[in-house]
Amino acid sequence: MVHYSLENKVAAVTGTTRGIGKAVALAFAEAGADLALIQRSSNDETKREIEQLDVTCEIFHCDLSDMEQVRAVIPEINEKMGSVDILVNNAGIQKRHPAVEFPESDWDQVLDINLKAVWILCQEAGKVMLNNNYGKIINIASLVSFQGGITVPAYTSAKGAVGQLTKALANEWSSKGINVNAIVPGYIDTEMNTSLINDPTRSRQILERIPAGRWGEPNDFKGPALFLATDASNYVHGHLLAVDGGWLGR
Ligand code: NDP
Repeated sequence: MVHYSLENKVAAVTGTTRGIGKAVALAFAEAGADLALIQRSSNDETKREIEQLDVTCEIFHCDLSDMEQVRAVIPEINEKMGSVDILVNNAGIQKRHPAVEFPESDWDQVLDINLKAVWILCQEAGKVMLNNNYGKIINIASLVSFQGGITVPAYTSAKGAVGQLTKALANEWSSKGINVNAIVPGYIDTEMNTSLINDPTRSRQILERIPAGRWGEPNDFKGPALFLATDASNYVHGHLLAVDGGWLGR
């Protein structure tokens, strides 16, 4: 019998104020996990929704552009909640400029939040998980882990590397009870895509290329994340799971 329960598990998720991160945190809570919400803001809307599900939920303040805070947050969760069984590196930012105009400060910010923070959180979570001989790490990659994108060179570089980091860590840790995988979202209707959605031409072009015939929604990530967080995926390692309405296959 396959188990999709997360009872007695502690799940840490970054970027849970809205979008994909919020949906994934709620899915884990619905499956019985206790939640550590890694957020830079004290917005407690997600925490309040999760607490209605009768599980423990704490916000851990962390600005993912500050590596001292990033380094400290997993040990803090482990101490306060007793474990870190699941880590979802979801938070991310997007900066769009033509390549020759791309400011170095934007490059650094995107690489810090979308890649370096992911690496440090994986490293710290790995220490806890190796000690427990158990862990599930899910990194949120992107279609630009495979494709080049347009005018997003920093984002593409970071997300390409997140895909490779996922495989590198899986190679090292898969025999030690730790699954490291990634989810590859397609075009999802979240705040990150406001400018694309509001551009009628780009919005139509994108929609026409999605075989499923619609943009994705945050709730589309609940099932795939639950699969990768539970024992259902124990023999799945280093995989990049596209949740893209069929975009990559076209
Ligand atoms: P949103 O913009 O809706 O949410 C981003 C989340 O990241 C927010 O909770 C935000 O918190 C948090 N965040 C941003 N910067 C920081 C920071 N410095 N410290 C802590 N938290 C931070 O994004 P999505 O839900 O759309 O995206 C989630 C993930 O999915 C990202 O990694 C994104 O790159 C990836 N993705 C999304 C796609 C899409 O089409 N939407 C496509 C491919 C990948 P705050 O409220 O404080 O700003």
